[in-house]
Amino acid sequence: MENLAPELKAIAKDNHQFRNWANTFGCSPELYFEPSTEEEVSEIVRLAVQNKKHIKVVGSGHSPSDLALTNDYMISIHKLNRVLAVNREKGIITVEAGMDLHTLHQVLKNNGMALSNLGSISDQSVAGVMATASHGTGTAFGSLPTMITDLTIVSGTGEILYCSPSSNPDVFEAARCSLGCLGVITRMSLKVEPDFLLEAKQEPDKFDNVLQNWDTVINSAEHVRVWWYPHTDDCVVWRANRTTKPVTEDKPSWFKYTFVGFHVYQFALNIARYRPSMIPSLTRFFYDKVHSTPTHVVDDSYKVFNFDCLFPQYVNEWAIPLEKAPEALKRIEKFIQSSDLKVHFPVEIRFVDADDVWLSPSYGRKTCYIGVIMYRPYGKPVPYKKYWRAYEDVMRSLDGRPHWAKAHGQTKSDLERSYPKFSDFLTVQEKLDPNGVFVNDYVQRHIVGKKRFAKL
Ligand SMILES: Cc1cc2nc3c(=O)[nH]c(=O)nc-3n(C[C@H](O)[C@H](O)[C@H](O)COP(=O)(O)OP(=O)(O)OC[C@H]3O[C@@H](n4cnc5c(N)ncnc54)[C@H](O)[C@@H]3O)c2cc1C
Repeated sequence: MENLAPELKAIAKDNHQFRNWANTFGCSPELYFEPSTEEEVSEIVRLAVQNKKHIKVVGSGHSPSDLALTNDYMISIHKLNRVLAVNREKGIITVEAGMDLHTLHQVLKNNGMALSNLGSISDQSVAGVMATASHGTGTAFGSLPTMITDLTIVSGTGEILYCSPSSNPDVFEAARCSLGCLGVITRMSLKVEPDFLLEAKQEPDKFDNVLQNWDTVINSAEHVRVWWYPHTDDCVVWRANRTTKPVTEDKPSWFKYTFVGFHVYQFALNIARYRPSMIPSLTRFFYDKVHSTPTHVVDDSYKVFNFDCLFPQYVNEWAIPLEKAPEALKRIEKFIQSSDLKVHFPVEIRFVDADDVWLSPSYGRKTCYIGVIMYRPYGKPVPYKKYWRAYEDVMRSLDGRPHWAKAHGQTKSDLERSYPKFSDFLTVQEKLDPNGVFVNDYVQRHIVGKKRFAKL
């Protein structure tokens, strides 16, 4: 810290402690930087090269894995959050990549625009959701990075590079989903649509019925998601379509959804840490009392896409070819039934169209994401590893690709086999980051392997 140039000293902190959202991973970077210009980012990268340090850029810290960790230099670009250009005619917005999605929605709304699709929350940074190919749901909608039309990245040598399908196209293709290992992305342009209202209906259904009428159910609306309640044969189907109907005014019942669905549920899950055999009855109770009630809402798209993800959790989520999903779900049901595992609800089932983002888990194939969860009531630990092993065995055997943000057991060679563009990605990675500045344990384990970079 003492030896830093004054302009870097002004934006650096030591003793920073980083914990991810779920409080499952953390690190103590030697220096933590909060730049507000691309030039400052570039200076930090040059300093890291000179001092033989690694860098990790962190967004909002929501990834449930060690993806964003480093004990060397951590950069947060949350101060790089300005709107740079709005083109309503073309439906394109350019923003600095540290902007969070909540802010982006407001900026878009003020300009009569909206993202076409979205995941469950909007707390993440724009760069963060893209870096892991985060997704929403809808069989005709690709992963979120399909929205990117151009971007700017500060490479591992400090060079500031503009990329688009016609300018540095290989870097553009790789950097749409970069896992933070190509450089620091500082700006992005996104293709958006005119703002719209969504009408969402949530209805109870039988799990068997969903599996038997798979194609009809998953294509029954523009955006469909299914929550299955393990240990029961029940599920909930959420369907959302664009609408011109008026916004609904009813407020969801505080007693049902906040008191019972959140507080009582968390309290009950905490007791179940000592008596896991209670879990199936808890699932039945909360399904009957809270989740089986049909709901209907019309509101701004981004409000309807987002959900309350309750409390900290362990999660695992893989993408498998869409047509293999019913088999995967039946096999997951079978191993839960035939073992002594007691698992939390829901199993979340979402859909993504095939896309062309090199490292997107939906690259080249229509995809079903199946997510499993074990909540950590009051942040306390619960057993999950046996569940994850059995789940991953099923997903692996069906050609699954793990969500990059979530901790998973795939090796570099598994991933190389699974992604046709993996070696092209590595070529760009070597070109942009020849010293391995952006390599951390996760990137070494899953992407670059044991290859010795100058500094590793
Ligand atoms: C409650 C919850 C709900 C979620 N819901 C969904 C969902 O519905 N769908 C889904 O697909 N995922 C979901 N996720 C996962 C989440 O979208 C990803 O973990 C996402 O990457 C988090 O964004 P972040 O800004 O927090 O990034 P971080 O977790 O901080 O970082 C993620 C990666 O992005 C890289 N990165 C960040 N900024 C930059 C930058 N400027 N340049 C280059 N690389 C950068 C980091 O180095 C790291 O590799 C959810 C996670 C949580 C905790």
